Amino acid sequence: MPDELGGAVGIERWELLQKAKGDMDPFLLDGIKLTHGTKDKPTIIRSVCDTRTIGCVCDDDATTVRYIELCMGETRRCQCGHFFKLVDADAEV
Ligand SMILES: [Zn+2]
Repeated sequence: MPDELGGAVGIERWELLQKAKGDMDPFLLDGIKLTHGTKDKPTIIRSVCDTRTIGCVCDDDATTVRYIELCMGETRRCQCGHFFKLVDADAEV
């Protein structure tokens, strides 16, 4: 009888392997802490897909979330001026 990892394939297997390595939020569903967010040092967003939609709460008083679609390798600027870059989930940054 295979264990949970032995029976898992595809993205489910990748998720279990990341959790085994200590990354308990491999899909970044818990939210991320913003970094510098400049054009030269954008906030890095990881993804296993070629595109990812993110939500930016542009300031502390914002009552809405601004959604931005990122493409792999692309750096995009939110209307608030914060830069985000989408990189492969396994990439070294
Ligand atoms: Zn923003």
